[in-house]
Amino acid sequence: ALAGETPRADRLIEYLHRLQDEHGALFADHLAALAEALQLARAEVYEVASFYHHFDIVRAGEAAPPALTVRVCESLGCAMAGGVELAASLATRLGADVRVQRVPCVGRCDSAPVAVVGQKPVLHADADSVAAAVAGGERDEPLPDAIRFDAYRAAGGYRLWQAVRSGEIAGDTVIAALDAAGLRGLGGAGFPAARKWRTVAAQPAPRLMAVNIDEGEPGTFKDRHYLETDPHRFIEGMLIAAHVVGIDGIWIYIRDEYPALRRLLAGELDRVRAAWPDLSPIELRRGAGAYVCGEESAMIESIEGKRGMPRLRPPYVAEVGLFGRPTLEHNLETLWWVRDIVAPALAGGPDPFASRGRNGRKGLRSFSVSGRVLRPGVVVTDAGITLRELVDEHCGGMLPGHELYGYFPGGASGGMLPARLADVPLDFDTLGAYGCFIGSAAIVVFSQFDRARVLAENAMEFFAHESCGQCTPCRVGTAKAAELMKQPAWDAALLTELGTTMMDASICGLGQAAPNPMQSVLRFFPHEVGVAGENKEGAA
Ligand code: SF4
Repeated sequence: ALAGETPRADRLIEYLHRLQDEHGALFADHLAALAEALQLARAEVYEVASFYHHFDIVRAGEAAPPALTVRVCESLGCAMAGGVELAASLATRLGADVRVQRVPCVGRCDSAPVAVVGQKPVLHADADSVAAAVAGGERDEPLPDAIRFDAYRAAGGYRLWQAVRSGEIAGDTVIAALDAAGLRGLGGAGFPAARKWRTVAAQPAPRLMAVNIDEGEPGTFKDRHYLETDPHRFIEGMLIAAHVVGIDGIWIYIRDEYPALRRLLAGELDRVRAAWPDLSPIELRRGAGAYVCGEESAMIESIEGKRGMPRLRPPYVAEVGLFGRPTLEHNLETLWWVRDIVAPALAGGPDPFASRGRNGRKGLRSFSVSGRVLRPGVVVTDAGITLRELVDEHCGGMLPGHELYGYFPGGASGGMLPARLADVPLDFDTLGAYGCFIGSAAIVVFSQFDRARVLAENAMEFFAHESCGQCTPCRVGTAKAAELMKQPAWDAALLTELGTTMMDASICGLGQAAPNPMQSVLRFFPHEVGVAGENKEGAA
């Protein structure tokens, strides 16, 4: 697993991946040897390996798992498209030599339902197509047809970064352009990017950077879209940020569900390093199937080779982050916009980002749209667009025979809104009055053939599965709520009290946001759960 390198405890998760890739699972004697090589207690290695859903630990006396695993997504979009039933039918059809697992969102909600055979996704899957993929023997996904390094450079790519790097363009000028455009963190939190850059730049060196490509929010697949199409636009934005803020090392954390993108990115980063050998170190790290690692401090723990448990703040990662150093943490998409905000601003032309927006909002947003629409996919359009405008103008309307009943405006954690609120501007800060938020702009549209309560139960079970277990309100609250939500008539008072406790007392956003869909049902779809509520206008 160490492949001749000097052992580093922070690379523990990388070594675990190598062992599992080589041997099909993690065996007790291998974990013991790894602990010895890293001079860690066996318990430390075990606690990390057992934290992540993608690691299979084989204990003494246990049988190894079958050589092939088929993962079937059961999150919102795939569940609506029959993913749960598909998993059940595959379990009997594929036999004992194949393991069928129901897994959370694999980031391909626009092609639901999705099964992953080994590492090869089967889109719009049914039992026949998955069985054919199993029999076909191909286990890897081909590399996407992205713009590669030579083509990107030939089109003028990296010139902006080189101008920043040479001092021809001052860092303050770059930050001012981001400020004027109003660029905010597009991973979900919406923190102003320029303010974050200034804050980290003011911290003592060495300063580090951590890039989050761990989009695990059910319904979200925009980062995949951007990497599949134009990875160097992101890399250039990342290098501009690194130079302006004075970064000494970059870590990129990509979710394990995107193996082809990881290979693509590794190859393209090699080309960048070959062209500019004096770059600061850039390390690519592989997640291991833990949604919570999309939370910035959990991701940092994971990069350090630990369980992905969110940290208590303060201190904030901008001051004390990766390896204890001030850290600039960004989602991929935020960096993807940097080039095309800064370059036009310097040329004196209109900013293509800030000049957009409608219904009183400013900027562009990348909506991942899935569910009961005719053309699901990533839609890049005005901040402040309404759900009705988004579906009608960009998604071809609803599926034939389907009428809008409601939607998730921000993935599983962003809550749900009924059809009567389809004209609310979608953006940061516009949905709080309804107990919702836009987060990573994952829009899941549902119709009269869906039940909001079923979707809320799906979301709560997801949160219970993904809770890191560190704090009681989230660990116990998500499991308890998932159980209570199975009752035909909900105990509104008890669920409300439970939700309030989780929101008030959980350490991180997972536990704080987990009650949102449940509370949306109580407020907007009460007729489904036998309680009195704010209205019953959404009744189908
Ligand atoms: Fe972990 Fe949940 Fe607490 Fe977050 S809220 S730290 S996921 S237990």
